[in-house]
Amino acid sequence: MMVLLKKVDWVVQGDKMRLVFLGPPGAGKGTQAELLKKRYDYNHISTGEVLRQEIQKNTDLGKEVESYVNKGELAPDEIVTKIIKKWLKSLNNKKGIVLDGFPRNLTQAEYLEEDFSVDYVLYFDLEENEIVERLSNRLYCPQCEKFYNLKYNPPQNDNICDKCEKELIKRKDDTPEAIKKRLAVYNKNTHPLVKHYEEKGSLIHIDASKEIDKVFEQVLERIGLEETKI
Ligand code: ADP
Ligand code: ZN
Repeated sequence: MMVLLKKVDWVVQGDKMRLVFLGPPGAGKGTQAELLKKRYDYNHISTGEVLRQEIQKNTDLGKEVESYVNKGELAPDEIVTKIIKKWLKSLNNKKGIVLDGFPRNLTQAEYLEEDFSVDYVLYFDLEENEIVERLSNRLYCPQCEKFYNLKYNPPQNDNICDKCEKELIKRKDDTPEAIKKRLAVYNKNTHPLVKHYEEKGSLIHIDASKEIDKVFEQVLERIGLEETKI
């Protein structure tokens, strides 16, 4: 008897994980999350990006959070939690999920745990002098939100976005003063989550000091998203 087998070239695993990206500012969480979205169709939300868009559109929510965000302080937990929960509810697919920039303190982690289970928390580890170096050389496109780094990932033409040809700008919280504040907030409020998730057994360590491609390889390997030819 002839059995018709569907020809499968690649088996992809790990494309439906629920992930939290944790780590200091400038560690490359957003870049890696966008790669997962592009390559494996993950849903991705960055709370920082949502807040920046609200500020840019000058909405009530934007006005409420503007001073916190520009100074490098955390926006109020209730506001950010509401944004995340609403977004999670709006997802009507079974694809993977990356939460980038949430939770950012223990209170937010507890809110999340009320009704969402996380498979893995990826901790993007980067030394403080490297963080400062990256953030101070960072520019972004106000149109498509793409980030550039004058040292590691410069635009093809000076100060112009490769994709939309808009003039690149500096984020308001990438000033030396706000960077210092963000680092202090990270160390005090966010870093304790590393231990929290370590104790829960869901923490995965990523060396974020490598190049973008190399970091992505680590991410894929650690969450079991390797393309295995059969
Ligand atoms: P980065 O990780 O580079 O500092 P983000 O774009 O993730 O930048 O966040 C920018 C800012 O948005 C934060 O400094 C903070 O003011 C606000 N923000 C983002 N996520 C949260 C959160 N979960 N809780 C409170 N504030 C947040
Ligand atoms: Zn652009």
